[in-house]
Amino acid sequence: MHIAVLAGDGIGQEIMTEALRALDALGLGDVRYDHADVGGIAYKNHSHPLPGTTLELVKSADAILFGAVGDPDCDNLDAHLRPEQAVLGLRKELELFANLRPAKAFAGLEHISGLKPEIAGAIDLLILRELTGDVYFGEKGQRTNDAGRREGYDIMAYDEDEISRIAHVAFKAAQGRKGRLCSVDKANVLQTSVLWRQVVNEVAADYPDVELSHMYVDNAAMQLVREPGQFDVMLTGNIFGDILSDQASMCVGSIGLLASASLGTGTRGLYEPIHGSAPDIAGQGIANPSAMILSAAMMLRHSFGMEQEALRLEQAVAAVLAQGVLGFDLGGQATTTEIGDAVVAQLAS
Ligand code: NAD
Repeated sequence: MHIAVLAGDGIGQEIMTEALRALDALGLGDVRYDHADVGGIAYKNHSHPLPGTTLELVKSADAILFGAVGDPDCDNLDAHLRPEQAVLGLRKELELFANLRPAKAFAGLEHISGLKPEIAGAIDLLILRELTGDVYFGEKGQRTNDAGRREGYDIMAYDEDEISRIAHVAFKAAQGRKGRLCSVDKANVLQTSVLWRQVVNEVAADYPDVELSHMYVDNAAMQLVREPGQFDVMLTGNIFGDILSDQASMCVGSIGLLASASLGTGTRGLYEPIHGSAPDIAGQGIANPSAMILSAAMMLRHSFGMEQEALRLEQAVAAVLAQGVLGFDLGGQATTTEIGDAVVAQLAS
């Protein structure tokens, strides 16, 4: 098992330390970890957020564990040198087009959600977000319009092949879960979404066992807080999934609890928490490492087929939360290290 470890910026380093300790506690055997810079730290050390050496490493690794990038010191850099470009670059370079973001209530911890406990307790959904297209990758820029005013633009575009390949992943995921797929779009106003809906309907013909529905994104945002238990798999484009998955995290309890996997056609994947580098709390030792540890669990499952070990990590995190070891993001007092200690202790018990 050759794992590229890209801790990145801000709380990335702190939470990565705990994820690696948890992996060690599993006693996986022959694992090689290679560390490399990414994001703001890479810009400072190598003048680029995604240096060639880092790219070489990730291409040779079986899986990538990724912390977070983002550094206020880099706010005034040209767009292509900003830390966040590293994430987009990695997704594009490795063709990681499918982002899996599970959100599930932790049993006995429904009260940590911002929703009513009986509503939060029903959350068990998977957001399947397309990752390499949409408004993030379309033509963009700033110009002066005919009225002489400054204008910014970002073109939203998906071609049918991009839509169909993510739709196939979503239908297969639904087959492995409760068999329900809700495709989210804005087909009442966006042509990109009209095509999205058509192609998803075409792909549906291959999956008669999956119940397909369509929902406008504004309604989906509302339904996610009204009755999140109605969702099994939610299929979204890049920007809608970005927003809805942050929302789903707060329905569970905290952004510090949600993991993600970014996958392509092979088994190599990139695993990262859904949150960013949290500069407001970086260096204070109070970041919740749970999302990072749960991302490591997703790595074991999707890149190495180690379902049992993945479950052990997930159950350890859930048990620690159930014991009341809560971080500051959940109204508790536990530090990053204390949460990591508790997970390691749980794995040893
Ligand atoms: P953020 O996710 O970093 O933080 C949002 C809020 O959640 C902050 O108050 C933060 O303290 C809190 N938070 C996040 N993770 C936490 C954790 N594990 N434990 C406890 N609290 C946590 O989002 P932001 O503030 O909008 O962005 C900060 C930087 O991160 C920006 O530079 C942004 O571009 C970047 N970013 C990077 C990624 C990524 O690396 N994939 C994703 C999102 C944002």
